Amino acid sequence: MKALVYHGPGKKSWEEKIKPVIKEPTDAIVKILKTTICGTDLHILKGDVPAVTDGRIIGHEGVGIIDEVGNSVSNFKKGDHVLISCITSCGKCEYCKKAIYSHCERGGWILGNTIDGTQAEYVRIPYADSSLYPIPADADEEALVMLSDILPTGFECGVLNGKVKPGDTVAIVGAGPIGMAALLTAQFYSPAEIIMIDKDDYRLGLAKTFWATHTINSATENAVEKVMKLTNGKGVDTAIEAVGIPVTFELCEELVGAGGHIANIGVHGKSVVLHLETLWSRNITITAGLVDTVSTPMLFKNVLSHKLDPKKLITHRFKMDQIIEAYDTFEHAAREKALKVILTK
Ligand SMILES: [Zn+2]
Ligand SMILES: [Zn+2]
Repeated sequence: MKALVYHGPGKKSWEEKIKPVIKEPTDAIVKILKTTICGTDLHILKGDVPAVTDGRIIGHEGVGIIDEVGNSVSNFKKGDHVLISCITSCGKCEYCKKAIYSHCERGGWILGNTIDGTQAEYVRIPYADSSLYPIPADADEEALVMLSDILPTGFECGVLNGKVKPGDTVAIVGAGPIGMAALLTAQFYSPAEIIMIDKDDYRLGLAKTFWATHTINSATENAVEKVMKLTNGKGVDTAIEAVGIPVTFELCEELVGAGGHIANIGVHGKSVVLHLETLWSRNITITAGLVDTVSTPMLFKNVLSHKLDPKKLITHRFKMDQIIEAYDTFEHAAREKALKVILTK
């Protein structure tokens, strides 16, 4: 089979690999129908994720068809269409019992990280019963790819951790796919204002069509001054960090109002200055963590009923064997006006 293989920092290739086989009775082999590229994959390719070693097939999102199941898989059979969760959960360990699947002792984020991932013709999914979701016959599978990672991540790490409530003012720093996923799913809680902050006018324009009430281009405008003006000097109830660099986290520290929340989603590679000299007295909370994908079934229902339309996040479509071109487009997102790219078998 063909797969996208990481060969050390800056090196990847679409090459022939051995088709995966069932290793444990709880495994399933899934034939990939659609997959996508995540910002995390770009981090991996830069060499930022040392757990990923030379020869690894990357990718942790996708939908497919069950090709084979292990003896103890009972929820799925050959031919079933499934959504692959970016988080693998055994369903049995202490963390899984607490629904902290991201820290599953035998799983967590392993796909395209410590085991081979989804940017391939076939993938082995461990603990298939608790790590895959059945797709009904008439569902839009392109939209569902957004449920593997970005929608639950934006929702759980941004909206839920940020405790967004009706009437709140929310600032989202970063209008990439994850920030947009937070923007789409924040609507469940009817915040009064959502201020989207980014340096890319194209993305800010898109954010407006996804019901951002205000947009700020932080390259040309003073984001802090503008947010303070919009909030009568109070700051926001929730500041969602969806970039993962010091300057954007520190911006959230400046934007959060008294009693507010900073919800970090970004993958940080550098330390960030925590300004406790100003924040200590402001009754704020700061949250950070991996997605547990506990909200996936709820989000799934809302996509099926068209209450939530994550297809809006897809800007580019490629065939799976055009994946190198798809990476080039995604790596040059501003130039290509790209948000999410979809790769189809
Ligand atoms: Zn991802
Ligand atoms: Zn577990």
